[in-house]
Amino acid sequence: MNELLRKPASEQAKALKNKEISAVELTQAALNRIKEIDEKLGAFNSLTEETALETAKKVDEKIARGEELPLLAGIPLALKDNMNLIGSKTTASSKILENFVSPFNATITQKLLDNLVPILGKANLDEFAMGSSNENSAFKKVHNPWDLNKVPGGSSGGSAASVASCEVTLSLGSDTGGSIRLPASFCGIVGMKPTYGRVSRYGLIAFASSLDQIGPFARTVEDAANLLEVISGHDPKDSTSLNLPVEHYASSLNNDIKGLRVGVIKELMSEGLSDDVQKAIENAIECYKKLGAEIVEISLPNLKHSIGIYYILATAECSSNLARFDGVRYGYRTPDAKNLMEMYTKTRAEGFGPEVKRRIMLGTYALSSGYYDAYYKKAQQMRALVTQDFVEAFKKADVLISPTCPNTAFELGAKSNDPLAMYLTDIATISANLAGIPGLSVPAGFDTDGMPIGLQILAPQLQEAKLFNAAHKFEQANDYYTKLANI
Ligand code: GLN
Repeated sequence: MNELLRKPASEQAKALKNKEISAVELTQAALNRIKEIDEKLGAFNSLTEETALETAKKVDEKIARGEELPLLAGIPLALKDNMNLIGSKTTASSKILENFVSPFNATITQKLLDNLVPILGKANLDEFAMGSSNENSAFKKVHNPWDLNKVPGGSSGGSAASVASCEVTLSLGSDTGGSIRLPASFCGIVGMKPTYGRVSRYGLIAFASSLDQIGPFARTVEDAANLLEVISGHDPKDSTSLNLPVEHYASSLNNDIKGLRVGVIKELMSEGLSDDVQKAIENAIECYKKLGAEIVEISLPNLKHSIGIYYILATAECSSNLARFDGVRYGYRTPDAKNLMEMYTKTRAEGFGPEVKRRIMLGTYALSSGYYDAYYKKAQQMRALVTQDFVEAFKKADVLISPTCPNTAFELGAKSNDPLAMYLTDIATISANLAGIPGLSVPAGFDTDGMPIGLQILAPQLQEAKLFNAAHKFEQANDYYTKLANI
């Protein structure tokens, strides 16, 4: 049974269709595996067994009636614990929401349920998705399945670790500055951030609303493409969601990429890059050449400002978004306050962790009168320049490539006392969020310690079909994706 859990969704779907196994059996096997190994990993905050088995049962009933199954029906999936599933806890890995039970479904959740995808549980994350290592969870750290002493990457660390360790086959994460792509790269799987607005964020706990996107994790590009198809689409409940038809991405995966112009981002191929990562990306460039692509060098001159821009805009937005957690309507309330003001301040002081407080303070400062023009407004202007860099780049290249991160997964604790060092982990991923373009990380080899390396591919807005195509061709020309963590 564990053999089938290690297979991609495309093969699990065949086994279900051919009645080699029932959906209830597959879901139960995944639940058993979680119970067996998750103590070591810490990937799950909670399990939603009942919902999962109920959904799986519906799949089996459909199969028994000889009916066609919706895409990904019966495939075990985990939701990042900042997405609402009715009747289950949605904690954002924060003490302030520790006992919050969702009164409604996020739009992506509803779409998964409509497609009969069993949701097995809620995956651990950095508190309110703020972090790059998943060490900021208020409950427990997530461990990297390739080396339990290392971080899985963040903030969607639980979503990535659960797929990489074959606890589940698919998961969803949210990506504000790299939180899907970075953990995908550290855990050796595929992680994808769609175009801003492609996926509804209704029912996702907001971090920085002009940057947040929900996207898929999977062990193959094909599975990720199918999962994106399931969750995409216009949603009247999210005014930023795009009113455009959803594509069947899987149908263009095998398109010939002869003549595709692959741009190598110059600024991400030099400074601070580890030797192993550099070698892996050079191999990827060779691979694309063999596939007939044309390699071009691309410069993104404003990329070096992206971290500074991001940490002003993201903190400014989060200081506003998190104002709603004040002990009145949601979650934790301090037990001993003498008056209303004390109730607010104590609730927030006791309920939020140190990184979240740091960001609320930074963001409040950047928005305060006298500093707004100097910081927030400047950052907005710089954001436009970063976006313009991509417009220029995509005149010369169809897709862009770079390492997803200059280094591989680091030891737990290595950067937790140095927020700035942690922020620098996101140098390759943040600019895609600033520009609203889609990007993904695909396995591209291993370092000398056997830790996975990720190749980042970026495409212009709404060109996810092209992005998946370029990634699939690379994936299939190599065998990195067939290697799984030994846990
Ligand atoms: N690591 C970045 C941060 O800490 C990105 C997080 C994210 O994408 N949610 O903000």
